Amino acid sequence: MILKKLLMQEKHSGKTSLLVFLLGLIVIYLFRMFIKQVGLPDSLTTIVIWFILLLVPFVHRPTVWGLLAFKTGLSIYSILLRPRGPFSINGLTSNIVNFIAVLIFTELLYQIIGSLRKMNRELAYESQKATSASNAKAAFLANMSHEIRTPISGILGLTDMLLSDKECSIHVKNHLSMIKSSSDTLLHIVNNILNFTKIEVGKEQNTPVQFSIHSVLHNVVDSLRTTIESKSVELYLHIDESVYPEIIADEVKIKQILFNLISNAIKFTDKGMVKIEVCAQRNMLDITVTDTGIGIPKDKQDLIFTEFERIQTSYEKSREGTGLGLAITKGLVEQLEGEITVESTPSVGSKFRTLLPFTDALESLQVTKGDTVDKEIDTPSGYSILLAEDNPVNQVYLKHFLEKQGYELTIVENGEEAVDLVMSKNFNLVLMDIQMPVKSGIQATKEIRAYEKSTAEKRIPILALTASVTEHEQRLFLKSGMDAVCPKPVDVGNLLTTMNTYLN
Ligand code: ADP
Repeated sequence: MILKKLLMQEKHSGKTSLLVFLLGLIVIYLFRMFIKQVGLPDSLTTIVIWFILLLVPFVHRPTVWGLLAFKTGLSIYSILLRPRGPFSINGLTSNIVNFIAVLIFTELLYQIIGSLRKMNRELAYESQKATSASNAKAAFLANMSHEIRTPISGILGLTDMLLSDKECSIHVKNHLSMIKSSSDTLLHIVNNILNFTKIEVGKEQNTPVQFSIHSVLHNVVDSLRTTIESKSVELYLHIDESVYPEIIADEVKIKQILFNLISNAIKFTDKGMVKIEVCAQRNMLDITVTDTGIGIPKDKQDLIFTEFERIQTSYEKSREGTGLGLAITKGLVEQLEGEITVESTPSVGSKFRTLLPFTDALESLQVTKGDTVDKEIDTPSGYSILLAEDNPVNQVYLKHFLEKQGYELTIVENGEEAVDLVMSKNFNLVLMDIQMPVKSGIQATKEIRAYEKSTAEKRIPILALTASVTEHEQRLFLKSGMDAVCPKPVDVGNLLTTMNTYLN
């Protein structure tokens, strides 16, 4: 053990070298004694020494030198002091020449190993530097995305709340729809940046759920409606009968792909039409987005799938963008093991075709998601809900929607108050924000779970309400004892459906 430790050290002090050398001598001496005792030929010691000489350079230079000196010393000693025949100057010279030759050989070997080790260390250092830079970038973007999503979540929530107000005039509702559309676009950009990071870091896994592709398509088209209406562009949506009402696939990724392709088609088309056609061939979803827009020159068609590549110059204000959309789309399609192709002619238009695998969802009923706020959701009323949320804007719209559903709502502003209330009152479910003052949602959940364990209390469902949406973060929330994660900006339909699942 000690020897291993000594040998594996990269830099040895003089003391260490001496120690290893002495240890080597003792081992060889003991081995010689053993050979003599057992009656084996003396040449075995030489073989073993040579064997060690060949192996040791990989670990320790002084030992090689020491053993070599010892071996040569032994030979010279036998020639000079214990001759078995007449003294031979040749024998002495050949021993010394041998010693020098092996010394040079082992030294060379050691030099080579040394430079290989150095290269290895440098490579490991560079790779560690690159990984930590990439992780820091991912962490920064995830954090920025959280910071941006929180206020957008407030804007979207309040806009939804006002849009659902029956007394609101058509004129105001039109303006509200514009605010909603702009916020949706902003959210889309943030999602794109986050997705780009995830694709770059390569951490993202597929999360298949059961959902309706019809709702997703209508949802995407609805969110782009204000932009379409501001142009002389007709939008056609055709979903073939071959598409099942419900399929199992990664809904979030498919929605992002559709949004990117459809929003590009609208953005790059000033007049004419944008046509979305969806059909299913065996277990492949075949999505085609065709437009009569500006088109893409042939030599640029591969380039557009590269990040930050845009054909038009940045001064062309009318078509804003980051140049990330198609790179992300391609990344997502590849993650889903699908295919994306483009056919385009300048001034005529473009056709993007995407093939994505899916599973038919006839048998099992898994997590089905709600789509719009207006959709009537059959929720059980009278349940007592605890909402731990420090953001006053989020409190306002969540209170509005939850009380409208008939829930009895108690609001607290930090994790500590949430823990105290769960211990002293009965609630049917907790909606827990993550980043809160005094005590975070994660810490509060851990304390609630520990309390339930120690008092044998019934486990209360805790749903995370959070703008932190990376997979790693979501796993962390579930590990702390939460039952599900509802991302912010809150899709009220989704939230109510998830709450229903846990309340029932
Ligand atoms: P962005 O749209 O933000 O510029 P994308 O990655 O989505 O970035 O697209 C990259 C480029 O590909 C666009 O800038 C545009 O030049 C071209 N492009 C994408 N879709 C279309 C389309 N439907 N019609 C014409 N050009 C397109």
